[in-house]
Amino acid sequence: MLTRTELRTPQRRECERCDREEVWDAADGCWRITTDDGERRTGNSHCIHEWDIDGTFRSYE
Ligand SMILES: [Zn+2]
Repeated sequence: MLTRTELRTPQRRECERCDREEVWDAADGCWRITTDDGERRTGNSHCIHEWDIDGTFRSYE
């Protein structure tokens, strides 16, 4: 029998174009930009991000 405890694992996504990286903040229900050695992985704000998502992918179109 499957449990739902796996949902506690943070989801992560990375843009294949500009290297922006975000993690899903389940507490606030929004994506947050990750920080790598004090440097925010903001990527290019004008980029049409193409996310490479690990694990479960859900489309919101
Ligand atoms: Zn991008």
